[in-house]
Amino acid sequence: MNVMSTVLVLLCLAVLMVAGVATSSTSRADNQIASQARSSKSFTWPVVQPSLQPEWPVIYPDDSISILLAGDTGFGGHGQPVREGFGMRQGGKIPYADMTKGIAGLLTGDAAFANLETVVSDHNRLRPAGKRFVFRTHPSGVRHLHDIGFNLFSTSNNHVGDYRTAGIRETLNHMDALQREGRAFVAAGLGRDRDDAATPKKLSIKNTSLYLSAIGIGGGNANRRGRPPHPGHLRYRSASDFADAVAKLSAVKDGYRMLSVHYGEEGQVYPSDRDVVQLRDKAVREAGIDLIIGHHAHVPRGIARVGDKLIFYGLGNFMHPGMQDMGRFGRCRDFGLVARVHLGRTGPSRYKAMAVEVIPVTGMHSSPRLMLTSQAKIRVGVLNGFASGLDSAQHNSTGVRFKLHPKGHGVACFAGSEHMSGAIGDLCGPAASGSVDTHGHQLAPVEPALSCGGRGFRGARYRGKTTAKPRKFTKRQRRTRRKNTDYYNPFGY
Ligand SMILES: [Zn+2]
Repeated sequence: MNVMSTVLVLLCLAVLMVAGVATSSTSRADNQIASQARSSKSFTWPVVQPSLQPEWPVIYPDDSISILLAGDTGFGGHGQPVREGFGMRQGGKIPYADMTKGIAGLLTGDAAFANLETVVSDHNRLRPAGKRFVFRTHPSGVRHLHDIGFNLFSTSNNHVGDYRTAGIRETLNHMDALQREGRAFVAAGLGRDRDDAATPKKLSIKNTSLYLSAIGIGGGNANRRGRPPHPGHLRYRSASDFADAVAKLSAVKDGYRMLSVHYGEEGQVYPSDRDVVQLRDKAVREAGIDLIIGHHAHVPRGIARVGDKLIFYGLGNFMHPGMQDMGRFGRCRDFGLVARVHLGRTGPSRYKAMAVEVIPVTGMHSSPRLMLTSQAKIRVGVLNGFASGLDSAQHNSTGVRFKLHPKGHGVACFAGSEHMSGAIGDLCGPAASGSVDTHGHQLAPVEPALSCGGRGFRGARYRGKTTAKPRKFTKRQRRTRRKNTDYYNPFGY
């Protein structure tokens, strides 16, 4: 035995030990991730779907939270009866699973928001309010939404009062009953009284809390005097309601604060100056709300970043048989915006937005589905076009611009995200800086689309037509259309 062989033996031993340590640390990490996955209630294994499904990163480590945002949602068209297990459109039944199969695979991550634009009732005896469009959904529909991953609901909009105060009470009761089944979700907006409506609702996620408040328009006013206290929601257009909702949410100090706002002119892709002042300056800059989730206009609007905070000025429709097919309104208005906000941890329980994904969807009036990449790219360009209108150095606001992921969604990464691990690092690491990521993906720049034109739907360019005006109907045609259609109709004919 000489020195050489001893050295060789020692070397071999060292190599074996290093390999052993490496394997055991990898498997420890794997176990840790797996146990995290098991212990985290909010963790959802992605539903395996055919070809359309993008390859989302599966593991969200504890230092990030992802929140999905979707717009107007319901299962019943105008005046339709409720049927357990089915969405209803023009008298036809569609199983819930058929309506949601195109987007169910998107619902991975920690939290998912939808604006529940409907009354929730399990029978058909409620008296409708005297308005043109009334919507209701069976509580099993909300159960289905929760089953596929939604756990943040807004119940403040212009349809919660469609079946009068009795409908509001039923909605409140059904949402409470669903929570008593042990379902972890929150519903903000409707309250038993004014104070309840103004109080932020809390959802605990990982090591922090998400707080959701919601404010809207239309019937179901929680301010009506009288005894017993009147159930309803707070109104966006009332200065005192808006101030109260914002102040109560702003007073929360230990979590991420989200305000859902149902507001604005239908069909209008640009928020009004007044709305920008309310949301950007009052809610975000003065009161420090972390995330504004805007909806109601039926069309997507731009996204702005104010410091670390985000404003979605409009998500558009998500899934609602009471809405018309937006497909005829041209590329600026024919899609729904599903977004995913990725939060990174900046303190023991503090999080801030590090990246945003936008996923254009189509078919929102029946069963929403992803767009082909070539089509999605055009809509990401539309969003990039909206961004320039939201830039304002004076107000610390920057319109968010997106790059295109080969799977057809837009990705915007904020400073620092490239150094993060997990989902954020996956999105914003090498791929965002121009090289190829671990999945072989590369993000490509998308040119902003030029002006989307005009006010409201009247400025919409119709596919295949050169006119910028909506079709004109005679009085008689309007009457027949009114009788025959249950579509939500923004023109008011
Ligand atoms: Zn609405």
